[in-house]
Amino acid sequence: VIEMGQPEHSVVTTCAYCGVGCSFKAEMKGDEVVRMVPYKDGGANEGHSCVKGRFAWGYTTHKDRITTPMIREKITDPWRVVSWEEAIGYTAKRFKAIQEKYGRTSIGGITSSRCTNEEVFVVQKMIRAAFKNNNVDTCARVCHSPTGYGLSRTFGTSAGTQDFKSVDEANVLLLIGANPTDAHPVFGSRMKKAIRNGAKLIVADPRRIDLVESAHVKAAHHLQLRPGTNVAIVNALAHVIMTEGLEKRDYINERCDPVEFARWEAFIKEERNSPEALEEITGVPAAEVRAAARLYATGGNGAIYYGLGVTEHSQGSTMVMGMANLAMATGNVGRNGVGVNPLRGQNNVQGSCDMGSFPHEFSGYRHVGDDTVRQMFETVWQTALDNEPGLRIPNMFDAAVEGTYKGIFVQGEDIAQSDPNTKHVNHALESMECVVVQDLFLNETAAFAHVFLPGTSFLEKDGTFTNAERRINRVRMVKAPMQGKHEWQAVAELATAMGYPMHYNDASEIMDEIARLTPTFAGVSFEKLDLLGSVQWPCNDKAPEGTPLMHIGGFVRGKGRFVVTEFVPTTERTNRSFPLILTTGRILSQYNVGAQTRRTDNVAWHKEDVLEIHPHDAELRGIRDGTMVSISSRIGATTLKAKISERMPQGVVYTTFHHPVSGANVITTENSDWATNCPEYKVTAVQVNLSNQP
Ligand code: SF4
Repeated sequence: VIEMGQPEHSVVTTCAYCGVGCSFKAEMKGDEVVRMVPYKDGGANEGHSCVKGRFAWGYTTHKDRITTPMIREKITDPWRVVSWEEAIGYTAKRFKAIQEKYGRTSIGGITSSRCTNEEVFVVQKMIRAAFKNNNVDTCARVCHSPTGYGLSRTFGTSAGTQDFKSVDEANVLLLIGANPTDAHPVFGSRMKKAIRNGAKLIVADPRRIDLVESAHVKAAHHLQLRPGTNVAIVNALAHVIMTEGLEKRDYINERCDPVEFARWEAFIKEERNSPEALEEITGVPAAEVRAAARLYATGGNGAIYYGLGVTEHSQGSTMVMGMANLAMATGNVGRNGVGVNPLRGQNNVQGSCDMGSFPHEFSGYRHVGDDTVRQMFETVWQTALDNEPGLRIPNMFDAAVEGTYKGIFVQGEDIAQSDPNTKHVNHALESMECVVVQDLFLNETAAFAHVFLPGTSFLEKDGTFTNAERRINRVRMVKAPMQGKHEWQAVAELATAMGYPMHYNDASEIMDEIARLTPTFAGVSFEKLDLLGSVQWPCNDKAPEGTPLMHIGGFVRGKGRFVVTEFVPTTERTNRSFPLILTTGRILSQYNVGAQTRRTDNVAWHKEDVLEIHPHDAELRGIRDGTMVSISSRIGATTLKAKISERMPQGVVYTTFHHPVSGANVITTENSDWATNCPEYKVTAVQVNLSNQP
């Protein structure tokens, strides 16, 4: 599609889309990329790629790119193009004025999972060291924060257990709330290959995704549960295993905390957790759940893979722990072919979490209240640091509306489009006195910004991304930044202008500082990455070449911890006014809110988001394929084109969220995970009617 003549040289770098983290050779002619060729030695992709990584990089030179800093006094004023020096000085002045008027904690920022580890690290450092508070959060808050919480609590590490290669040795794949052939295509193909080679597949998903039945692949079981009942299903699976004596007692006795296990065992064996007792809640026939549980427990190596259909619920963290319980009970952690594996959405979700972007944690997931850890950071950064956790993203919005949070630095994240309850987010942004957006395009959030700092595309970045298997990949600078400055340079200059001197000569110096301060990264350097291609953390003295598999012989936390996972239904209920449940997902050719892929030829394959609706629900409302429908929730309303589909069960509708026009988040609620505030994007009670719009 975008091939433009013969290349003269090439640079190996990493795809900036999904959490698979494919390596590519960017083939160049002069300063221009001619084509992207999947790199055969790429640790995550071994020469494979998908339509996003291979073709959808044209956005890097799209005419919408903003390459000069811009400022404006009020958001109703026109933008004024200024020098970097003026933009940074202006930002620092506004932020400092806000802090003088409203206090030290009245500003903060958000890091981006699209940016490199190095870029993320300097933003959280700026907030902690220059803003002098811990009001830093990451966009991973709204996707995989329950993964961090749940896996850390049960296993001791906020990350998946396996490398991608491990799936080749799995005998049973339990896929929950994920659609890898669309969202993680290269890994999805690897899963399909494993299934063609004999692995059995169990899918737990309200939607009949491609893997349930497509060419050469058919799931052994599709547990087509009602949205919001994941925990009931995982409890029912565990109940069968424990009451039918299918658990691995030796493994549990040797590797898990006996007190916590006994507590969980008593709970899970209760009749109320049986598939029969939960059938009415989940909508899944008990016999199907029993058969799936037996297959997972006795079919050989059992590997769990999951996505946002697990995490984006009011019980997202509970569900992650429920899957960890299941894996421990069946002895399915600590060797090839097993494990509990989050399929991370964005390219650097894992990395942005690892780099200390949470308001309560420094890099490597260490609490800001831990005096020893904080003093180490204070020594290296030569400044006093706050020991109180800061605000999470939703709390920042609430505080803004209340009038106590007045300034925000937004790194590469379109919060106005991607966060739930758009009306509330917009109100919060309007209420702030200084919104700074560092991005490639004037996105929806930039409509509320006073300062726009142009960012770099992945082709102009120098640093690292960490993929879903904890693999730290090099992102090499294919060409110089179009706006004349690395993102980390702009951030370091802003920190300096705020009164905290920050300087690095290049990105490798930032990685050296990360390694010095973060035990799991202690052995990582650009030199090593160039030598080995990539490494999976932990990479340190104990594992100088990294750690493909976690928890071999014992859990990182010591004894594995079973957690009682009581099913608590979401408060989002259907009723006569809102009788259907809306759930959301992705499509192969597009990526997240589409800021990048909509500016490439990929848009031709997916011009708009549509609403999938079951034929029966459509007929009741007089809806035909292709007619415009209005979707309303308790929060708001939007309009989409209907697509009649039997992929969804009756009573459930589905859409993607790649286009701002349809604005799915106009209708999603403010419900969130009890432990992490990850929004409950996957369950919204709605009504669907024929629209007046043509
Ligand atoms: Fe690989 Fe994901 Fe990029 Fe596709 S989008 S090439 S699967 S990293």
